[in-house]
Amino acid sequence: MKYVGAHVSAAGGVENAPVNARNIGAEAFALFVKNQRQWSAGPLTEKNIEHFKNNCAALGYSADHILPHNSYLVNLGHPVEEKREKSIESFKDEVRRCMQLGITQINFHPGSHLKEISESECLDLIAASLNRILEATQGVTLLVENTAGQGSNVGYRFEHLAHIIDRVEDKTRIGVCLDTCHAFASGYDLSDEHGYKDTFDQFERIVGAKWLKALHLNDSKKEKGSRVDRHENLGKGHLGWKTFEMIMNDRRFDNIPLILETPDSALWATEIKELYDLIR
Ligand SMILES: [Zn+2]
Ligand SMILES: [Zn+2]
Repeated sequence: MKYVGAHVSAAGGVENAPVNARNIGAEAFALFVKNQRQWSAGPLTEKNIEHFKNNCAALGYSADHILPHNSYLVNLGHPVEEKREKSIESFKDEVRRCMQLGITQINFHPGSHLKEISESECLDLIAASLNRILEATQGVTLLVENTAGQGSNVGYRFEHLAHIIDRVEDKTRIGVCLDTCHAFASGYDLSDEHGYKDTFDQFERIVGAKWLKALHLNDSKKEKGSRVDRHENLGKGHLGWKTFEMIMNDRRFDNIPLILETPDSALWATEIKELYDLIR
């Protein structure tokens, strides 16, 4: 079975996210477990935690289909130690919030070298940061997301994801979340059958199929290989519905969260329904 959802709002408290997800017919959802644009946030209250768990249970969401996104401020590969430490502490806090909420996975953008160190040095720093975060926490798997390769972001080649995974010590708690817009913008052609097959063949060869634990479903406003990260609603960008039809009929993506991060949230309910209608 396919578990399709969207990155829903947690405004007013994390406990509102499952409610917002159910209102659009989602079978999975993403959320921020703290404000994504601020370093510090008040702790979750007992009430937040209890209501979140109760709402998830009542509305039929199991931990396997909930995938928080980490804060945009975190850069685990920051060339400056002090800034990197701040990122590590912030991500630890997010992982601990997941633990409190009974959430078992979170996805993150790998990081940026800021043109001060090489890509390979940046990837090494990211892996070292992950080892620290994994050591300080329990029970939550960290899913590295491929990027569009905008600016000095690493993670736009499958080799980068493999580089990080290779150097993570606790292999039971690492995985990949593949974003379709980012993959396309970084040069992987998911728009037709040939490119789709070739992309996932490359993923299997370079990274390994077993690490793929979630997808972000986004169309792309920008062309293949543009290395510009601009999400578009499904069918309105350079990927088109064909990509999502192939995904919805691909058994490799059964039982994992498939999350929309498309810009117009008013279309999410329709996009989810249209995705399920594509299953043959
Ligand atoms: Zn994404
Ligand atoms: Zn993006």
